[in-house]
Order: sequence, then structure tokens, then C-alpha cells
Amino acid sequence: MSKRTYLIAGNWKLNAGAQDGLDLAQGIADVAKGASNVDVVISPPLTVIAAIAATIEDAESDVEIAGQNLYPKSSGAFTGEISAAMLKSAGASWVLVGHSERRQLFGETNTQVREKIEAAVAGELRPIACIGESLEEREANKTLEVVFEQVDAFADLLKENPGNIVIAYEPVWAIGTGKVASPEQAQEVHAAIRGRLAEKVSAEVAEKTRILYGGSVKGENATELLGCADIDGALVGGASLKPEGFGQIIAAAQKL
Ligand code: PEP
Repeated sequence: MSKRTYLIAGNWKLNAGAQDGLDLAQGIADVAKGASNVDVVISPPLTVIAAIAATIEDAESDVEIAGQNLYPKSSGAFTGEISAAMLKSAGASWVLVGHSERRQLFGETNTQVREKIEAAVAGELRPIACIGESLEEREANKTLEVVFEQVDAFADLLKENPGNIVIAYEPVWAIGTGKVASPEQAQEVHAAIRGRLAEKVSAEVAEKTRILYGGSVKGENATELLGCADIDGALVGGASLKPEGFGQIIAAAQKL
């Protein structure tokens, strides 16, 4: 079976939320031009999603927009939160769910991650569900135990939405640290996650599901990582804040 279409997603986090975000989106639209065989997604702060949607449309670009988080309810007394429908109306078609920073800093649980994925799908947003182990868990040989528990919390939802829910494997110790998992380390976990999906859902869903790697991906290491059989793209933090760097990762996917 041929490999799945690569997806390169940039997570801007709490950066580029004003004119700098519009300039960055324009720069990324420029570098992504011609990358018709690679899906490119950017995840800016909420404040600029609508303006960036207009920038991307003006640039006649295929770059798509993701929210960085959502609340599972559609309306009500939830001060400070944002719904799937609101993200969609602002111009997003994707949403990150369960990023390790949300899990660690804001206490997001596997149950909440599942609820958010359900709400995203119901609101016609495609979720990128993030999973990954801490350094402590890896050193205690608990990597697969942890990621399987995280995947099992939402795996059944993939059955009805094959291809529309993306998984991002992001070892927490590799995020923003400059420490990248070796291609062998990443491939081993990606293959295990795909095996788990085959076991828990079906071989067909396992084969269709895109599993991104995240953790200090940059132009210099992208080709090696993306060349692995079960790595279908990248979720990129730091290197997505410069069009040139992000463009190198897109170009690496395009060439493979
Ligand atoms: C991320 O925030 O999801 C991430 C992978 O960050 P970085 O690429 O900076 O490690």
C-alpha cells in the first residue's frame, strides 16, 4: 500500500498573534506554493485566525488553519473558552487536541482529550490528537504503556472518521528542547501505535491514519524522520515560526 499523504503542521503556540502572525502566514503561503502533494497546516493564536484565513485566501494558497485547543461544549457559561463552531467560523478546519503543554500545564486528561476530539468531529473540524511520554516514563520503559493508554482513550472514534483524525506522537522530552528522537526511536513508537490501532479498531483504519512525529523537527532532520515507514508528517513548534525553516520541512516531505 502506498504511503499516506504527508501532513506538515506548525504549532505557533503563544507567538505571532498580531501583524507578525499575518506576515508569517504570508511567508508560509509563499514557501508552500507548489507543494501540492503535501498538506500544510498552521496553528496561530485565536486573535489572528480570521485575518490569516483572509490572507491565505488572497494568496490562493492551500495552507489550512488549525485552532490550538477547543472546549467540548458548543455554548454557555464557560468564560475564556472557544467552541468548534467558533473556530470553524473564524476560518479553521483543523484543531490541535491534547498537546503535551495542555496536558502538563492545564491538567488535561485522556477523558477530556476524548471529549474534545468528539466535539471537533461533530463540529466538522479535523483533530490532530497529541500523545507522548515524558522523559521519566521513557526511562522507566513505560513509553508504550503511556501512549497506548492515550490512544485507547479515543481509538474507537477513528472507526467512524477514518483519515479525518490525525495522531501526533510527540515525546515530551523532545518538545522545544532541541533533543530529537532518533528516526529509529520514532519509527518504533509509530509502528507500535499503528499496530495498536489495527488491534483496537481495524487494519484498514490503522493503514489510513496519519501519525505525525513532533519534537524539535527542523530542516536538517526532517528527511530522515519523514523517510520512516510509519511517519506521515510532522507537528512543528519552533521551526514553524520562520517561513524558511518551515519551508525546508515542507520541501523535505515533497521530495520523499
Ligand atoms: C510542539 O510544540 O508540538 C513541538 C513539537 O515543538 P518543537 O518543534 O519546538 O519541539
